[in-house]
Amino acid sequence: MTLELIPVARPRAYPPRVSAFTQTFWEGLGAGRWQTTCCEACGKFTFPPKPVCPHCWSDRMHWKDLGERGTLYSWTRIHAAPKVFVDEAPYAVCVVDLDIGLRIATRLVERPDKPCQCGMPVELVVLQYEDGPLLASRPL
Ligand SMILES: [Zn+2]
Repeated sequence: MTLELIPVARPRAYPPRVSAFTQTFWEGLGAGRWQTTCCEACGKFTFPPKPVCPHCWSDRMHWKDLGERGTLYSWTRIHAAPKVFVDEAPYAVCVVDLDIGLRIATRLVERPDKPCQCGMPVELVVLQYEDGPLLASRPL
């Protein structure tokens, strides 16, 4: 299962720091693969990906592919953006509850035909900037 890649004709305004550990995540996301770490000891997911489980402190973590659906928990549209994001304003951000029990924050890709409302279903997509990917959500 791969996420839709949406091209964005600019570099990321605040690119994430990629470590040796998170490189798996970023390379996968660039190909539309949505994955995070899951603990082999307690079975819980973590996001962002972590080498040690924050629930039981086990270091037996493995990568697991995730579903692309969730529910919009909250969202807002940013008009007065921080300086680094001024060129992208206005833009929307959101908090999404994933079906697997994780709550994550992403950019929100608004659709003129589907006004955003808390509780509505969303799908995850990848914003493919010139210098790399970012995870985003879009109303279904
Ligand atoms: Zn654990």
